[in-house]
Amino acid sequence: MSESNPDQVSLATERPRMDADIVCVGFGPATAGFLSTLSKQLVNADGTPAVESAMAPGLPPHVLCYERADDIGFGVSGVVTKARALRTSIRDIDKAGIPMAAPVGEEKVLYLLDPVGASRRSAMLRLADKFVHAFKWALPFERDALNLPWTPGFLHKNGGMVLSMGQFMQWVGAQVQNTGTVQIWPGTPVSQALIEENKVVGVRLLDQGVDKQGAPADGFTPGMDVYAALTVVGDGPVGPVGQQLDEHFGMPENHHKRDWAVGMKFVVDLPEDTPLKPGTVLHTFGYPEPEIFGFLYVHPDRVASLGIFVPSWFDSPVRTTYRYLQHWMMHPYLWHFLKGGKLRSWGAKTLGESGRRGEPHLAGDGYARIGEGSGSTNVLTGSGVDEAWATGAQLAEAVLELLKAKKPFTKENLEATYAQRRRGSWVEQEARAAEKSRDGFQRGVVTGLIGMALAGLSGGRLVLPGKPLRPWERIPSLEDYFHGRIPPGEARKIRDDCYARGVSAHTALMERAGWPAIPYDGQLLVSHQDALLVGGKVQAPHGYADHVAFVFPNECRRCGTKLCVEVCSGQAITPGENGVPNFDREKCVHCGACLWNCASASPENPERMAVAFRAGTGGLHSAEN
Ligand SMILES: Cc1cc2nc3c(=O)[nH]c(=O)nc-3n(C[C@H](O)[C@H](O)[C@H](O)COP(=O)(O)OP(=O)(O)OC[C@H]3O[C@@H](n4cnc5c(N)ncnc54)[C@H](O)[C@@H]3O)c2cc1C
Ligand code: SF4
Ligand code: SF4
Repeated sequence: MSESNPDQVSLATERPRMDADIVCVGFGPATAGFLSTLSKQLVNADGTPAVESAMAPGLPPHVLCYERADDIGFGVSGVVTKARALRTSIRDIDKAGIPMAAPVGEEKVLYLLDPVGASRRSAMLRLADKFVHAFKWALPFERDALNLPWTPGFLHKNGGMVLSMGQFMQWVGAQVQNTGTVQIWPGTPVSQALIEENKVVGVRLLDQGVDKQGAPADGFTPGMDVYAALTVVGDGPVGPVGQQLDEHFGMPENHHKRDWAVGMKFVVDLPEDTPLKPGTVLHTFGYPEPEIFGFLYVHPDRVASLGIFVPSWFDSPVRTTYRYLQHWMMHPYLWHFLKGGKLRSWGAKTLGESGRRGEPHLAGDGYARIGEGSGSTNVLTGSGVDEAWATGAQLAEAVLELLKAKKPFTKENLEATYAQRRRGSWVEQEARAAEKSRDGFQRGVVTGLIGMALAGLSGGRLVLPGKPLRPWERIPSLEDYFHGRIPPGEARKIRDDCYARGVSAHTALMERAGWPAIPYDGQLLVSHQDALLVGGKVQAPHGYADHVAFVFPNECRRCGTKLCVEVCSGQAITPGENGVPNFDREKCVHCGACLWNCASASPENPERMAVAFRAGTGGLHSAEN
């Protein structure tokens, strides 16, 4: 039996109501692209409305944007971008004085060999490693890393920018609000879309003054209903409104959101004598596990953003991004640059990696979808910010066209303006080339890399096939995963002992399987808990319902894997009594990883898992990410 939805607890309550012309959910790069474009064209130079509000004729449209994080730019996001769409919207972006921005300089793609002998490498990869070692004298090889002498053009970001998305979003937010034509409200999560007869008529904000289950408590304030002619949904890959619309309206045929990655990132002060120049971009693969990709981008003033992506096709019952990030940093090639550095900030966020195949219905009566939640992220070029921004800007142009023509925001009109613009743009062309480019990873890393190269070089005409599985279908048992490394009975005993102590088991299991202990230095190599305190600055305001909920407790009781515990980016999910995990909101960074990393299907929908990720406040408190 599923638990009751907190939103239903207070449905009977009388709610405050407000009316607007346009309401936006989330202020990420997609909505930033939308509002930047729209806000400049709502009012003429003489102050008269360029387009009129439908609810208050004679005035410009009333435009509102609600962002769940405590402030603008508190997410964790991408930092190297070709900035094509950004440059179209923001002239002279290079000279705009955006903090932590640098033009892209040297770019390298590195294959990292395993210096500790603990990663799980296929026979083919072990053969490749032997070859590299044998011929290292003739190859660009240093500190256990092969600097690929040639990389295909589609991977390059030359002419682009290294950015801190936190700093960039704060800068854009200020520009948008300075126009005086739109309002952005951070710290204000949207709990759901209001749907009447298959038409989205606005949004409901989150109830305050409730207990953890969402029932009214002291100081209960029901979330306001904001009615609007157009609801713009840009709430990212795990946004609750996007999830609700996917559920309500379904996905187009053969589309699904099965591919994802967890991205975890450190912002670091590099040592004073660092040789790394601002604009340097390093991309890595091969270590700590072959499936894990890494990145290091250098900002001005000796600051670097670095991290890893743990993708859906890394089939492990103990996927832990934090621990793997530490092993990645300690790889000799990277540690050479990082030793003596200091953690400034830290965070995690999931990425929707289904690309165009994960595209939902882009528009319907009263609503439009933009950004990563609308399938915009390009999985071939590893680019999401520019694409998200572009889709937002395309929607803004479409909205202005409809407002000028005084046409309503119907599905038909939005498809003829917004969807059509998107279909005719570079975002769509490149998304089609990328659509099947990573299918090869379903069959292994080497096949995946070959498939990517083929797709990239042929513009998507040549691909290696592979069938993306549903997340819960691909988790091996502990015994299978550690076969040949830890005797089956011992692996289970290690896990049971850890769970009896209320802690996750990946540390003990990885160390038993040969991963060295982390030599904490209190600077860069810090415990997960210290990262939460020092680098993550996580906040959790009181009076809100828990946004992570184990909605099918019977599935959890039956679940032998407890992947959610192992994967949790903030150690917010821990083993609980009777097999149902505990959730501690005070440690949650809102990365959304638990939504994908569940070993059981929802009994109601096999495309979803047994855990719910809903609207919530708080999370990371840093605008450097
Ligand atoms: C570690 C990492 C590194 C990356 N590196 C790169 C890179 O180098 N280059 C690149 O181009 N891309 C990169 N990406 C991808 C890029 O960050 C995304 O593609 C991009 O941020 C998508 O923008 P978006 O606006 O669609 O969604 P998001 O950035 O996810 O923004 C959605 C916003 O909606 C808010 N929101 C969610 N739910 C609600 C709600 N209920 N109510 C109100 N607000 C809500 C969120 O807080 C968030 O601010 C990276 C991602 C990660 C995690
Ligand atoms: S949420 Fe999923 S992974 Fe976690 S215990 Fe429940 S069924 Fe298992
Ligand atoms: S509980 Fe919070 S920190 Fe943990 S995986 Fe889920 S969203 Fe991320």
